Amino acid sequence: MINLSRMNRIRAIDRDNDTITVEAGCVLQAVQAAADDADRLFPLSLAAQGSCEIGGNLSTNAGGVNVLRYGNMRELTLGLEVVLPDARVWNGLRGLRKDNTGYDLKHLFIGAEGTLGIITAAVLKLFPKPRERATAWAAVRDPRAAVALLGRLRGSCGERITGFELIGRSALELVLKHIPGSTDPLAAKHDWYVLIELSDTFPGFDLAATLENELGAAMEEGLVPDAAVARSLTQQQALWHLRENISEAQRIEGISIKHDVSVPISRIAEFIERADAALRALFPAVRIVNFGHIGDGNLHYNLSKPDATDNAAFIAQTPVVNRVVHDLVAELGGSISAEHGLGQLKRDEILRYKSDVEMELMRQVKRTLDPHNLMNPGKVLTP
Ligand SMILES: Cc1cc2nc3c(=O)[nH]c(=O)nc-3n(C[C@H](O)[C@H](O)[C@H](O)COP(=O)(O)OP(=O)(O)OC[C@H]3O[C@@H](n4cnc5c(N)ncnc54)[C@H](O)[C@@H]3O)c2cc1C
Repeated sequence: MINLSRMNRIRAIDRDNDTITVEAGCVLQAVQAAADDADRLFPLSLAAQGSCEIGGNLSTNAGGVNVLRYGNMRELTLGLEVVLPDARVWNGLRGLRKDNTGYDLKHLFIGAEGTLGIITAAVLKLFPKPRERATAWAAVRDPRAAVALLGRLRGSCGERITGFELIGRSALELVLKHIPGSTDPLAAKHDWYVLIELSDTFPGFDLAATLENELGAAMEEGLVPDAAVARSLTQQQALWHLRENISEAQRIEGISIKHDVSVPISRIAEFIERADAALRALFPAVRIVNFGHIGDGNLHYNLSKPDATDNAAFIAQTPVVNRVVHDLVAELGGSISAEHGLGQLKRDEILRYKSDVEMELMRQVKRTLDPHNLMNPGKVLTP
């Protein structure tokens, strides 16, 4: 057992290079704060940021709500320091944006879930701090309309789209039921919503007006029945509070069968339509709690019975449900684990979806770096 929480120093901030060098035990929020103090942004942001550490973020290739604009940990990392299973230290703490000198070894350790070595430090990218933000909660006609709205915003707002999250009504209802202080932003109920965030580094740019114009045009096209644009920081936070508390509300509600899947954005609507239909045919009483980072093609597609106290028998059907969902994901060219890795839960399941060639290459990398299987044995790869 190794605990890196005391390796929590910010080793350096290089403002001209827009990089921060941090130890693996730094809590994500502390890195965000250090960047902020240097008038920069470290954009990784997720609900666990007050407790998760950079080593864990790197090892799971964490994404979060800003991937659409800034990428996930893989894209945010320039260099790593790693203790190898044979106790040698690989110092790859380079802050270079260009370095074509052979295999890019850091990518082996990012997303490896600790199976290849222990990350002790990293050089991470920093960005200019956004000076303006606009946030809106919009009802959308259906997931197809959500994808169409994303396309429309991409055309007009480009890089300014920082977040674009899909939220099904059942997910919102769980938050309204379980999380104190939550209120429905719109007067009427709708089946689907998107939470949109635009940001810009140029102070004084009226992003809220831009967002209002775009949503107005989308209303005329019939994509958006209703929308609310936040008028203050408090209102922005209240909208994000709804999104960030879905997992917690679901936990309070009771156990459920969860999926963390991705498909190309162009296939999201088809995935939802076909998965919903297939599961409702098998389990007429199923409750589908669907939300996610639709701008990244990533959905948290979760299922439980309408009455969560009656869930146990349904949970026993997990393999059947997984087969329906994961086979469809594979058919649509997707991944059965977009954010949360394989761990032990999906290390057997992945064998059905990755080719023998790919699995054997992964095993060969593991054998080369960790021949005695010291690092997180039993995770990612079957023993
Ligand atoms: C409420 C909540 C919301 C979340 N939302 C998102 C989200 O929106 N997007 C997203 O991508 N993820 C999300 N996650 C998952 C999150 O990204 C991971 O849980 C987190 O990044 C892992 O960091 P940790 O410090 O908790 O790591 P741990 O859970 O401690 O470790 C994770 C894995 O990394 C390995 N590891 C840890 N440190 C090191 C190291 N230094 N060297 C080598 N291996 C190491 C561990 O052995 C383990 O296999 C969420 C999690 C929670 C709890």
